[in-house]
Amino acid sequence: MTNKCNLACDYCYVPKNTNEMNEEIIEQSIRYAMSDGSPTISIVFFGGEPLMEKPLIEHAIGICRSIEKKGRHFFHLKISTNGTLLDEETLKFLKREQVLLSISMDGNRSAHDTHRKFPDGNGSFDLVDEKASLALEYHPYATALSVITPQNAGYVCESSEYLLNKGFKYIISAPDFDSVWDEKSMSVLERQYRKLSKIYIEKTRDKKDFYLAPFEEKLASHICGPYKKYERCELGIKNVSIAPDGSIFPCIQFVYEDPGRWCIGDVWKGIDTAKREAIYTESEEEKESCTTCEVKGRCRNWCGCLNWHTTGNVNKVSPTVCAYERMITPIADSIGNRLFKKRTPLFIDKFYNAAYPFLALFREKKDI
Ligand code: SF4
Ligand code: SF4
Repeated sequence: MTNKCNLACDYCYVPKNTNEMNEEIIEQSIRYAMSDGSPTISIVFFGGEPLMEKPLIEHAIGICRSIEKKGRHFFHLKISTNGTLLDEETLKFLKREQVLLSISMDGNRSAHDTHRKFPDGNGSFDLVDEKASLALEYHPYATALSVITPQNAGYVCESSEYLLNKGFKYIISAPDFDSVWDEKSMSVLERQYRKLSKIYIEKTRDKKDFYLAPFEEKLASHICGPYKKYERCELGIKNVSIAPDGSIFPCIQFVYEDPGRWCIGDVWKGIDTAKREAIYTESEEEKESCTTCEVKGRCRNWCGCLNWHTTGNVNKVSPTVCAYERMITPIADSIGNRLFKKRTPLFIDKFYNAAYPFLALFREKKDI
């Protein structure tokens, strides 16, 4: 929606300028999203800080909901915000319009304020924490999005516990692979995940329903089989990112760097399918370094934007990503083994009951 932001997080990859969408680009983007005839369309409002352009978001949501009234399309809407600009009026509006909410919060004060600061250098924890409490009153299924870096890796367990106790049921945390991870920081992270795995087990035994990435994803990749094609964004084939000027990119990560190379079209002319195919095919080529790996199929080595961001090549996996995948997978497996051995009811329901995702979705829709 906009590149503007009221925070100055030091790991942010969005260039701070005043580029933003306008009503015409939003309307054309929605027309473009509908152009392939699919009845269900998912839109995530992203920034910068998207709520700096609240009237534009209201405009976009209004269009989507009025299109729905004709009965041929349904929109899943979501907003990803830093939380600082949330207020009761906005939260009520998002709830009324059934817009899912994700709030960037790196965990407890120590983890969050390491990087997520205002331009004057003060940490944003106090404000975000207060807004998150308010948000959870209206959106009990809001997601907390946390970034882990070598500098805040030592707080991962405490931070996840903090967010769970605060009331977040969905916590998606992932390392910032653009940071420099060495053996020492990776082993700090490993110790934290081992500690966190005990909390995951305890809460699952206590029937506390929650989603804690990255464990869930890795557990599913064992129980339900390797990553399926439909679980991937497939670089512009299933998902695209639209920049404020209406250019289309295969993923958000590509929007800000070397646009000439990665731009695959725009919302007026559509996608240059030959260019998109070339990027996709390159990213899909078999990775020689992975052929005999025991966690192949459960590893995110297929993520072209992650590969490009970390190695400059959509098909080359960075040694840090590889080390991370080899570290996290056995920890998730040990969680799975312990919970399966005891036939822990919530664990069995979550991973062996095919209806579970639909029931969870139904619950959320009811409470959103
Ligand atoms: S809140 Fe998001 S967009 Fe704003 S500076 Fe932080 S990471 Fe960047
Ligand atoms: S863990 Fe490393 S070697 Fe194994 S599949 Fe992933 S990137 Fe390839």
